[in-house]
Amino acid sequence: MHLEEVAKRIIKNFPRNHKEKDPFKVLITTVLSQRSKDENTEIAANRLFEKYPTPQTLLKAKEEDLYELIKPAGLYRQKAKRIIEISKIIVNKFSGKVPDTLEELLTLPGVGRKTANIVLYVSFSKPALAVDTHVHRISNRLGWCKTKNPNETEFALMKLLPKDLWGPINGSMVKFGKNVCLPRNPKCDICPIYDYCKWEGKK
Ligand code: SF4
Repeated sequence: MHLEEVAKRIIKNFPRNHKEKDPFKVLITTVLSQRSKDENTEIAANRLFEKYPTPQTLLKAKEEDLYELIKPAGLYRQKAKRIIEISKIIVNKFSGKVPDTLEELLTLPGVGRKTANIVLYVSFSKPALAVDTHVHRISNRLGWCKTKNPNETEFALMKLLPKDLWGPINGSMVKFGKNVCLPRNPKCDICPIYDYCKWEGKK
């Protein structure tokens, strides 16, 4: 099976729907999600946006005002500082709107390629390939690339996959990585792409 077909099988078996598309909420939720479990990120994001739904409202908040709200997502002091900094820049430099280019998104504090690419795809429907540890690990196990870090994987996958799969492969591979192709003890016995995995450690 061609690599593209394998990618489509992952997307079909592990569909990921993004209900929230508002660029500011997607951006801030991605910041909150760093080193946090999905369910905790969701609780923190809901609590935060109930009180501060926009960068303009967050501008008036102090870091301490956010602590209790976002505590479930962990690293709450660092994340509160970052969220307020990002809000200030969006209001003052980008007229209150989240920018829709990679270059501009990367100027925001704490926003790396993964976060920027998630915003570009989910909120602006642009072809953008976000690579986190799951996407990096699985792509290497499958033998699609031999890379040392997520950034290298992003560039390798962009050459291998057609643009229309760049966005969807991220969410689906993350789901696949959390449920089947786990970092340790992957569940190879239920893997829908077992035959196409080149990892020597597969069981
Ligand atoms: Fe991951 Fe195992 Fe499937 Fe390979 S066979 S992709 S290691 S779950």
